[in-house]
Amino acid sequence: MLAALRSAWVVLDGRERVVRSSPSALPYGLIRGSRLRVDTLVLLARQVRRDGEVRDLEVEVPRGHRGTELLVLDVRLAPLGDHVLLLAEDQTAVRRLDAVRRDFVANVSHELKTPVGALSLLSEAVSGSADDPQAVRRFALRMQHESSRLTLMVQDLISLSRLQSHDPLREARIINVDDVVAEAIDSTHLEAEAREIRLEVRGQHGLSILGDEDQISAALRNLMANAINYSPDHTRITVGVHLADDVIEISVADQGIGIPERDLERIFERFYRVDPARSRITGGTGLGLSIVKHVAANHGGEVGVWSSEGAGSTFTLRFPAHRGDWRALGHDQGPTDFTADEETP
Ligand code: ADP
Repeated sequence: MLAALRSAWVVLDGRERVVRSSPSALPYGLIRGSRLRVDTLVLLARQVRRDGEVRDLEVEVPRGHRGTELLVLDVRLAPLGDHVLLLAEDQTAVRRLDAVRRDFVANVSHELKTPVGALSLLSEAVSGSADDPQAVRRFALRMQHESSRLTLMVQDLISLSRLQSHDPLREARIINVDDVVAEAIDSTHLEAEAREIRLEVRGQHGLSILGDEDQISAALRNLMANAINYSPDHTRITVGVHLADDVIEISVADQGIGIPERDLERIFERFYRVDPARSRITGGTGLGLSIVKHVAANHGGEVGVWSSEGAGSTFTLRFPAHRGDWRALGHDQGPTDFTADEETP
């Protein structure tokens, strides 16, 4: 019967000594020699043996002998003849997920509070300046700015939650990488042009990926928008497409401000920004790279980054190649320039 249990188990005798235990109980670190390591459990086991009542308790035990990380275990103690049966289930992952979820809600509330608070102050300012048309115009412009920030944030939050609940490989379609790149260039070139940033496309053509075109386009658009936002005027952004060992790499390389090494690990977290003030000016939501990371993961791929402060950054999306449709496989057609001048008549 014990062997059929899903939980880890320990059987204690009349003196709270361990008589038998499941192999899975060992990694939980509940047992030392023939005793339980957690004194509270020993006391509770004694009470259970005396009054025959089942008891539940959540305990935290260090992972391993010297571990600093804690395991959270749901423990149940029940009488078993003149012995006591202890059942334990690891709840660490569930608790961690709860904490992440709580953090996320707290972050979202904080992020939304800023533009909402600004809108409320600005509307007060507008109503207080009824006799000053110039001030009303100025405040109205700022209200527009704050409400577009709010709209962007809500749109990004909706995309993120869709990405987490939707599996693109279930209704996968063949996506032409050339189309995705052209679309990303199309939607960002005006902004690049205004800043005299040159957009260039290099690499192979005719490659395809299996997945959701809207998601992959959104990921590439986010990388392009960041490259523009975090680059000075008169620089160059290169989109590269390459196939290597059944993996399609789409990279976006800029000559921008770069990212300090200590921040590289964290930039894919939701709401993480290297310089919050700058991100506010550029209208960033802090969710772009998090969206990119989810899109890559949903397609069985990944996103990587190389960066050097002051020199630039390269973000690389890697997706499994779709084998069906490699038309111009291996054809390096050289750079195609999308300079501001060529793109607009
Ligand atoms: P944001 O909306 O703030 O741009 P992202 O999630 O897209 O949020 O990016 C997170 C942070 O990573 C940015 O705030 C910025 O500090 C940094 N970052 C992203 N892309 C680049 C880039 N190409 N060059 C320099 N820094 C970047």
